[in-house]
Amino acid sequence: VAAATTLALGACSAERSGEDAGSESGSPEDTLVGIAMPTRSLERWNNDGAHLDELLAEAGYQTSLQYADNKVDQQITQIQNMVNDGADILVIASIDGTALGPVLQTAADQGVTVIAYDRLINDTENVDYYATFDNELVGTLQGQFIAEQLDLEGGAGPFNLEPFAGSPDDNNAKFFFKGAWDVLTPYIESGQLVVPSGKAPASVDDWASIGIQGWTSATAQSEMENRLNSFYTDKKVDVVLSPNDSLALGIEQALEGADYAPGDDWPLITGQDADLANTKNILADKQSMTVWKDTRTLGDQVATMIDSIVAGEEPEVNDTETYDNGVKVVPAYLLEPQVVTKDDVETALVGSGFFDASDLGL
Ligand code: BGC
Repeated sequence: VAAATTLALGACSAERSGEDAGSESGSPEDTLVGIAMPTRSLERWNNDGAHLDELLAEAGYQTSLQYADNKVDQQITQIQNMVNDGADILVIASIDGTALGPVLQTAADQGVTVIAYDRLINDTENVDYYATFDNELVGTLQGQFIAEQLDLEGGAGPFNLEPFAGSPDDNNAKFFFKGAWDVLTPYIESGQLVVPSGKAPASVDDWASIGIQGWTSATAQSEMENRLNSFYTDKKVDVVLSPNDSLALGIEQALEGADYAPGDDWPLITGQDADLANTKNILADKQSMTVWKDTRTLGDQVATMIDSIVAGEEPEVNDTETYDNGVKVVPAYLLEPQVVTKDDVETALVGSGFFDASDLGL
């Protein structure tokens, strides 16, 4: 197997460096694809990994799917093992996008093609392609949702806002925050949005100061509890900017603990991913929206990229400007995320087969 995969790989590399690989292109059966996912603790990564693994296996590829429990060292070891096992292509959803330089150098030395999955890999030239949803647009949709729901353009306010940001080591987190903050900043400046906790970064570049390490619900919950206890003894939160569903879930638990009531004084809350628990909360009026990224389409796109690479062709990309990883601009394929509110749960999430109606008690 190792010999065959090396041959296939050689053929692919030749084509990418401009030589005519012709009939020397590899075949799925001779290609080992290593899939490195960050953690099983978040629903989406389980779906991402399972879907891509299944697609590739159906197409005849050899695959190795690994989860790293959100531990950077564990992910590096897993990737190194994939390289040692003769992987031809690596698909990596990184934990810390800046920590993979050395291991990807060993991959590059063996001619492995690397696709960054969902999250960009930084500070290395050894990442060939990036497939993701438009990360800044995720934040823009969250910011616009807040502006529309509160009629900020019509001059309404002031409203008490509590902003949150994602994990400081995740390259996506700054894009999510920037997208939202660019929409909301004018309303903070006009005084229509006020942040009683003071946890509003002075500029977008300071977003990590309110980042929740590891994207954990528990940390978001205790942060929200602290803000409620310290700054809301005589007022109510009107709106929470949450970058994703795992944070939103913790924030919602904190609100429940502080006796906020859905349909009454419950604040507007944003999210991302359409996790099952959050989708149930949307139906129960405990979350206002989620930005849905159909992870099946991301897997489909990556499988298409892999087919092209193995056929000795250049994979299709649609963005060659945005994702500068510090060493180079990584050619990317961006998919479009979509807002889902209570009104769209049935049509978007059930209608597309993302959930069964029975999952949601519908
Ligand atoms: C992903 C989000 C996810 C978050 C936490 C981000 O990189 O793009 O979909 O909610 O990580 O896992």
